Amino acid sequence: MTLRVLVVEDDPEIRALIQSTLSVEGFDVQTAVSVSEATALLCHSLPDILLLDLGLPDGNGATLVQKVRKHHALPILVVSARHQEAQKIELLDAGADDYLTKPFSVAELLARIRVALRHRGTTVAAAVTVHELDDLQVDLTLHTVVSRGRELHLTPTEFKLLARLVRSAGRVVTHRQLLTDVWGAEFTEHTHYLRLYMGQLRSKIEIDPAEPRHLLTETGVGYRLAVS
Ligand code: CA
Repeated sequence: MTLRVLVVEDDPEIRALIQSTLSVEGFDVQTAVSVSEATALLCHSLPDILLLDLGLPDGNGATLVQKVRKHHALPILVVSARHQEAQKIELLDAGADDYLTKPFSVAELLARIRVALRHRGTTVAAAVTVHELDDLQVDLTLHTVVSRGRELHLTPTEFKLLARLVRSAGRVVTHRQLLTDVWGAEFTEHTHYLRLYMGQLRSKIEIDPAEPRHLLTETGVGYRLAVS
């Protein structure tokens, strides 16, 4: 099955690079240079994945994310420049799946697309309940966490936090999403909870908590559980 990608990007060089890369990988690539052109294409037919630049000539991607998310579960990857940090977080909270910061490598782009597609696929089929990478095995059904062959004892909150990351393994989860899902909607400003519990989790799971290989920090945005 050929997967269809809609690339919304006004920079001709980046657009051409993404288009040729994804074509070589076997994707059917459509492109749009503005919010209005993308909206017209999306009304006509729906791609399997949407790759969305934040800064577009006739507006930003936020309007598109909201429109698409109202009706569809397709993966949305946001492509942003470094100075667009605040807007990027807003879009992730609004329902975008992940983001790439310019400049990004072709390998990174393909990896993010694979993770986003896999995640959406498994969400429809069955929820992700098992995570395994190197020395770490997490089973959400059995409620077990095994690290370097030993079963770890986690507090209920530590387990909830890890479980939330397992369900989005490989994708960034924003601070707001984590705080809402683990502690509740009234705790979205309490980022110190997150820092505290992430520190505890790392000290139990990571060989070197200062150089985490599983629980990765996305500076200013959130956290990501590493996948192979
Ligand atoms: Ca742009």
